[in-house]
Amino acid sequence: MSELNKDNDFYNFIIVGAGPAGLTASIVATRLGLSAICLEKGEITGPKPRGEGMAHVQVVDEILGRDFLPSVGSKSNGGRVWHSPGDQQTTITHRTYDHYFFEWREFIDRFEEIAHDLDVNIQLNCEVISPIEKDRLCMGVKYRDGNGNIKEVHGNCVLDCSGHSGIIGRHYNIAYDEEMNCPIIKCLISEANIDINVTPDLQFYFIGNGDLEYSKSFPQCVAYVFPLGNKKAEVGLMLRMAQARNMKTVKIPSDKEIMNVWNNLKSMYPGFK
Ligand SMILES: Cc1cc2nc3c(=O)[nH]c(=O)nc-3n(C[C@H](O)[C@H](O)[C@H](O)COP(=O)(O)OP(=O)(O)OC[C@H]3O[C@@H](n4cnc5c(N)ncnc54)[C@H](O)[C@@H]3O)c2cc1C
Repeated sequence: MSELNKDNDFYNFIIVGAGPAGLTASIVATRLGLSAICLEKGEITGPKPRGEGMAHVQVVDEILGRDFLPSVGSKSNGGRVWHSPGDQQTTITHRTYDHYFFEWREFIDRFEEIAHDLDVNIQLNCEVISPIEKDRLCMGVKYRDGNGNIKEVHGNCVLDCSGHSGIIGRHYNIAYDEEMNCPIIKCLISEANIDINVTPDLQFYFIGNGDLEYSKSFPQCVAYVFPLGNKKAEVGLMLRMAQARNMKTVKIPSDKEIMNVWNNLKSMYPGFK
């Protein structure tokens, strides 16, 4: 693509979302000398913690450096330990490549530092609302800025990096996979009783339907622990909503019930405290 002159509201790339994908795209485009604007609805880049475990990926290594993950992450042997309900049986599966557990903020901050050094144009508090179309072609996007004003930006190409079920993708009826529709709650804890040096694997705890005293009708779910360094761990609870929908006897829990289960898990389950 040839570079067009950038003016205030025309860019080669309009990138929606400043998570890992949007930041990567913005950095790559800027490095290639193409003009790019990255619109993020949150107050900061990567506002919601998403990932804390990954292997080497070429494009990420090229941006952050191949040493980055080993420098901030705890190296795992790539194993996953699956604990049955009640922890009566455990199964371990292994990957054959290096895998690291890291802290989301450290990961995103490094992307942001690099973007900042390159003068990448990231606009925070800008929520993209819809594409702008002309003759059935997407020419740009409409967005709401931090003051509530509706603005437009035009460009050659719009990249939807707004995460699962993206705002632009939905407009064009992209069939997002319902199986992926699993709400995950998670938090970073300190003083974890799980030590990455002793237990370098991701731990999954299956919680069967009816296992939990305090929520009999709660559907099956998985609680997981990513051990980090310094007695810290990322812990989470994941529900397979698509499966719950097919389990006719299970009612889909309200947000309040999910939070109730989550709070109880945090205080009761092994590895969480
Ligand atoms: C809780 C959770 C845990 C996960 N853990 C892992 C993991 O350990 N390892 C792994 O590899 N993957 C994990 N994933 C998958 C993870 O989502 C991706 O790996 C990674 O975050 C994808 O990056 P992304 O930039 O595509 O999306 P996201 O990180 O979701 O970023 C999308 C960005 O777009 C912004 N946005 C959304 N809508 C708009 C809008 N209308 N206008 C402007 N901005 C908008 C959001 O605020 C966000 O900053 C996890 C996902 C979840 C939900």
